Amino acid sequence: MALTPVLSEFWGEKDSWTLDTYRSHDGYRGLEKALAMDPDDLIAFVKDSGLRGRGGAGFPTGTKWSFIPQGDGKAHYLVVNADESEPGTCKDMPLMMASPHTLIEGIIIAAYAIRASHAFVYVRGEVVPVLRRLQAAVAEAYAAGYLGKNLLGSGFDLELVIHAGAGAYICGEETALLDSLEGRRGQPRLRPPFPAVAGLYARPTVVNNVESIASVPVILSKGIEWFRSMGSEKSPGFTLYSISGHVCRPGQYEAPLGITLRELLDYAGGIRPGHELKFWTPGGSSTPMFTGEHLDVPLDYEGVGAAGSMLGTKALQIFDDTTCVVRAVLRWTEFYAHESCGKCTPCREGTYWLVQILRRLDGGTGTEADLTTVLDIADGIAGKSFCALGDGAASPIVSSLKYFRDEYIRHVTEQACPFDPHRSTLMA
Ligand code: NAD
Ligand code: SF4
Repeated sequence: MALTPVLSEFWGEKDSWTLDTYRSHDGYRGLEKALAMDPDDLIAFVKDSGLRGRGGAGFPTGTKWSFIPQGDGKAHYLVVNADESEPGTCKDMPLMMASPHTLIEGIIIAAYAIRASHAFVYVRGEVVPVLRRLQAAVAEAYAAGYLGKNLLGSGFDLELVIHAGAGAYICGEETALLDSLEGRRGQPRLRPPFPAVAGLYARPTVVNNVESIASVPVILSKGIEWFRSMGSEKSPGFTLYSISGHVCRPGQYEAPLGITLRELLDYAGGIRPGHELKFWTPGGSSTPMFTGEHLDVPLDYEGVGAAGSMLGTKALQIFDDTTCVVRAVLRWTEFYAHESCGKCTPCREGTYWLVQILRRLDGGTGTEADLTTVLDIADGIAGKSFCALGDGAASPIVSSLKYFRDEYIRHVTEQACPFDPHRSTLMA
């Protein structure tokens, strides 16, 4: 399957982030088309395109927009989730750096469709260059009449605010993000009600991922048939895959949904010379890991799901035969324990204890009984926590023990990490 650079088409161009460059690539053409449409027709168009949310869950974008009550004369909000932080995921940040106007055009179209007069982009505060790039692009868009009162003479008003978060993984969870945006400590809210019913300031709110929103303008310009000519019936279109780890050319690769890792590895130069693939994640560390036997799994929602994992954020983290799976799982679990917001007991306590036991195993002082205990704790977290962070924390442990139980056992019997002969004592 060939790569399809659509969103990433001109990322390598000089000053790709400016309004002039964007316009020279037919930028803001989709908006002109959208403003000539009735908002309801626009929602129906996005629904018919089959575009699914690119933040991880794959919820149909047009369906999400259609939940917003129309004609009630009250405030609705659009919030763009730009708090990309799933380990291995690096597609939204490059998109906003290289082509911020693609996102801004998508925001205007989406806000017009759901009749929102205020839109917010919630960005990780640590990524100052992205923040500055977005702010500069928003200023350009205001100056050119794409934002503000009566934009492009359409009678539609839109104010766009770029908001910097403070760098908490949990603030990528949509309801924690909304709490944070409202000025409170970011912790997940009970759903339902979903944000579409009661979101920002308890008003109907669409929360969409950066890539989802940025994909809308080109679908409008090029049409549904063109979009659906890529991917499958249930997972149509193109998407951005992030490839990181032990490959020759890590980076962002844009391709139709359904491409396989085997094909993507060819584009990424393969596994680094002299080594073999050991394990990989299809959608970041929160998705159950795969091994070499999954190289031909179609990377779309149905294909990855049928093979026992989730497409998630399409963050392909590649690990070769030099990697200790116990160490990798320990690092991820430390991340989840650190980022757990502490609201619910299974995740708060469970992730803490998982780290303690995994450190023992990694350091060569664990026992075989520890393997039963970690699975038991993971079972107490998955499906029993308040939000998806808990499920994500359990997933690397369960899947690594499914494929690499022998390697855990070797840590116990050899009382050391077999990948590190110089390390035999507990480091923690
Ligand atoms: P979810 O399936 O619960 O919801 C997905 C979206 O659909 C949400 O916006 C939700 O409001 C909406 N929705 C679902 N059912 C609805 C209904 N009945 N009515 C109205 N709206 C409804 O998934 P989630 O918990 O929001 O997100 C989990 C995903 O997040 C995981 O798949 C994971 O891959 C991803 N994730 C992404 C990152 C990142 O950096 N991009 C980080 C962590 C996790
Ligand atoms: Fe917080 Fe973890 Fe519970 Fe989510 S699962 S609410 S992150 S403690």
